[in-house]
Amino acid sequence: MKKNSEAPHLEIVESRRLLFGDLWDYAPSPEKPVNLKKHYDLFIDGKFVPAKSGKTFSTINPATEESLAEVALADEADVDRAVKAARKAYQNVWSKMKPAERAKYIYRIARMIQEKARELCIIETMNGGKPIRESRDIDLPLVAAHFFFYAGWADKLDYAFAGRKARSIGVAGQIIPWNFPLLMAAWKIAPALATGNAVVLKPAETTPLTALHLAEIIQEADLPPGVVNIVTGDGGAGAAIVNHKDVDKIAFTGSTEVGKMIQKAIAGTKKKLTLELGGKAANIIFEDAPIDQAVEGIINGIYFNQGHVCCAGSRLLVQEGIVDVVTRKLWDRLRTLRVGNPLDKNTDIGAINSKMQLEKICSLVESGVDEGARMHQITCDLPERGFWFRPTFFTEVAQSHRIAQEEIFGPVLSMLTFRTPEEAIERANNTPYGLSAGVWTDKGSKIFKIASKLRAGVVWANTYNQFDPASPFGGYKESGFGREGGLHGLMPYVELI
Ligand code: NAP
Ligand code: MG
Repeated sequence: MKKNSEAPHLEIVESRRLLFGDLWDYAPSPEKPVNLKKHYDLFIDGKFVPAKSGKTFSTINPATEESLAEVALADEADVDRAVKAARKAYQNVWSKMKPAERAKYIYRIARMIQEKARELCIIETMNGGKPIRESRDIDLPLVAAHFFFYAGWADKLDYAFAGRKARSIGVAGQIIPWNFPLLMAAWKIAPALATGNAVVLKPAETTPLTALHLAEIIQEADLPPGVVNIVTGDGGAGAAIVNHKDVDKIAFTGSTEVGKMIQKAIAGTKKKLTLELGGKAANIIFEDAPIDQAVEGIINGIYFNQGHVCCAGSRLLVQEGIVDVVTRKLWDRLRTLRVGNPLDKNTDIGAINSKMQLEKICSLVESGVDEGARMHQITCDLPERGFWFRPTFFTEVAQSHRIAQEEIFGPVLSMLTFRTPEEAIERANNTPYGLSAGVWTDKGSKIFKIASKLRAGVVWANTYNQFDPASPFGGYKESGFGREGGLHGLMPYVELI
């Protein structure tokens, strides 16, 4: 690409904005915030209880920096209470219950989630910063769908593992991140319950609220006390779950760094482990791809949800002959994205989840500029308070640049180029991660050939970031091991005899 190829095009976009800008703007259309409680307790043994220490922490709205509520801060003593409650419920009730009866509870939870979907998606957006359009149209429908899907498996485990008997394993300790708080809770809790296990779940420190509202639903659904326990807190509470002697299985979703620490901590114990970790996905666009569709896929792959997606298509691999046209179309589309109030139904890009995450994004973007890549960043007004980052992409990126290697976890794309399919495969696989990838081409045979050579757990073809509870998800290499979702998602929660 020539150094200043974007300049004339920039002028066109600018003049279009001057001509039509205000006329074409949508009127604000915000959802009404939900009235939250001032204080949230831990959910242990079917009851809401304060932390033994009495300590709490404040959880904020990242779009305004205002405190939303005080939340109980669990420590080792609380985790111990939760694990004991889970063990008791597992031994006395849940593991003995007929699978068809277990299924009824999970179906009930799924239906109640649907009934309360509106309230839950607003809370998700208030606490996490993601646009309401995303939490309403993606997160919540998928959350309910996961509970329905696994409710259906509860009494059919004999068919899931033909010729074998599936036995539950006991108490599952589950630790989840902040990017899809309720969806990650669903991915973890639903298969564990369907297979007859009890659960102690810890949401991320910055996004505890929807998990606690799920606890209210679980209580209302009359799930036997102790089958699901939710302990809020920081990494210390997570470590207490990992190190607790009476936990049989750890399911972790989060950073590769913490995943490695967990793997070390449980080495030599009887605990089973699944890890869903980071990613640096390649989205590969061939010259014969439908380019407008591909550009929409790029936008969906990295910019929606602020790039807070482990499987985000954060590395764009473009075949050389179409670099200019892809750059131009991408820039055009980027300029139309609306950054701002996540509760507004017209918002495309909401708030960055935390100050810490914003600083991480800024420092990696700075490294991209310092190392010589060319930055393209839109100019738009940002709200005065809160954590925001303007959608950005880099061209002239070298494989060795940090922005091509490290997970940015923000609305930032690094564009690399390739000439041949072999080079695309080599570049795509040249990362310590292996969670997901995308392929865009007109030729079905090319899709199959490339997909079979990509070391990624999920490969999307001519689309990106599509999820279904029936479809397994998980990584290769440093993106972790074990699968969640689908029939495969039952495996980590059973012993086959
Ligand atoms: P993180 O810092 O690893 O935190 C994940 C969870 O682990 C949080 O609940 C965290 O608690 C807890 N934790 C922190 N230190 C711990 C320790 N020593 N022992 C046990 N638990 C501990 O990750 P994050 O920053 O929240 O999330 C972003 C990362 O998650 C990205 O790398 C992303 O790729 C990955 N992710 C992967 C998937 C997937 O399915 N593969 C899905 C979503 C996200 P605190 O929040 O209180 O620190
Ligand atoms: Mg963290």
